[in-house]
Amino acid sequence: MPPHGLAVPGGVISHTGVAGLTLGGGMGWLTHMLGLSIDNLLSAEVVLADGRVVRASDTEYADLFWALRGGGSNFGVVTEFEFRLNEVGPEVHLGIFFWGLDDGASALALCRDFVPTIPQRSGLLIAAGLSAPPAPFVPEQYHFMPGYALMVAGYGTAEEHADLVAPIRRQLPPLFEVVTPMPFTALQQLFDDGVPWGAYAYEKGLDLDQLTDEVIEVLTAHAGKKTSPLSFIPIYLLDGAFSAVADEATAFGGSRRPHYTCTIAACTPDPAVLPADRSWVRSLWEALRPLASNQGSYVNYMTDLEQDRVRTSYGPAKYERLARIKAEYDPENVFHLNANIKPA
Ligand SMILES: Cc1cc2nc3c(=O)[nH]c(=O)nc-3n(C[C@H](O)[C@H](O)[C@H](O)COP(=O)(O)OP(=O)(O)OC[C@H]3O[C@@H](n4cnc5c(N)ncnc54)[C@H](O)[C@@H]3O)c2cc1C
Repeated sequence: MPPHGLAVPGGVISHTGVAGLTLGGGMGWLTHMLGLSIDNLLSAEVVLADGRVVRASDTEYADLFWALRGGGSNFGVVTEFEFRLNEVGPEVHLGIFFWGLDDGASALALCRDFVPTIPQRSGLLIAAGLSAPPAPFVPEQYHFMPGYALMVAGYGTAEEHADLVAPIRRQLPPLFEVVTPMPFTALQQLFDDGVPWGAYAYEKGLDLDQLTDEVIEVLTAHAGKKTSPLSFIPIYLLDGAFSAVADEATAFGGSRRPHYTCTIAACTPDPAVLPADRSWVRSLWEALRPLASNQGSYVNYMTDLEQDRVRTSYGPAKYERLARIKAEYDPENVFHLNANIKPA
């Protein structure tokens, strides 16, 4: 990627598998500027349930191609993805601003105010309950301290990025900040150590229309109650290029109107710690649920594959269309170990 300055939107962890990520949607640092991974998918080679190998695109097996872009692993085994490449970097700019738990309400309100100011050539991630990592850019006294982070990526010039992030520190001076250029690939790997291979994990997601005062109250009441330093709540902003795509253009399980999607994520290398943080995930999720914009979630953030929530995530019209396509390509539901679409 960096030698050529070309990229495709992916997740924020570089070692997440491309197939599952893409088939559910795929969101990350580039989503505000370039949409989801599926919005950049041109074609896919798929092994169908009956053994046929086909290529799906806008012009071949168009119904299957629509379903693959959000309908998950329900329709076949993808053996090749063809993506549109976009010019990114290779050098990009990142600003990280970190506040302690006591400043949570003000920090999240700042994030809410800041979001409408960001230009298209940027990306943003909010992290609630994040423990500051023991990284060289974090002052030692804050290592492992839980708090809130606002992270802003800029894909324009250094000056544009400096101007963009300046109001953040003016409005609420952070405990520490880092504003730096870096290769896009380094940005993609920034959190990799926070979710090591082999860790024990559990997560539940939901969508929020806005970071209202009620949402902020619930988040700040729970964010500090986790046990593992690796557990936290990433809150993705879905707007910009994401919202420029029509709802019905892909099978993405969620609305295309501007909103946030968050996942309450428990993660620990110690199996003995998992039950405590799994309870933390569930209790925060139950508390946020009445404030969510729907009762589904991004299907890639469902550890428990509850059938009713899969259906709700897609909504009746999309689910029924997916179920009809499933009946055509996988009538026996061979591919069912997933957020399952039942054949119509
Ligand atoms: C640490 C971590 C960070 C994450 N961060 C993000 C993020 O930033 N943005 C985001 O959008 N999502 C994120 N996710 C969620 C991620 O999108 C899903 O976990 C996704 O399923 C991962 O893809 P995978 O290929 O590793 O899937 P797997 O876990 O291997 O499989 C998931 C499903 O896809 C199926 N599958 C796998 N390969 C294929 C294939 N070739 N063809 C057909 N079906 C296949 C499997 O059978 C299974 O049903 C993250 C997940 C983790 C664990």
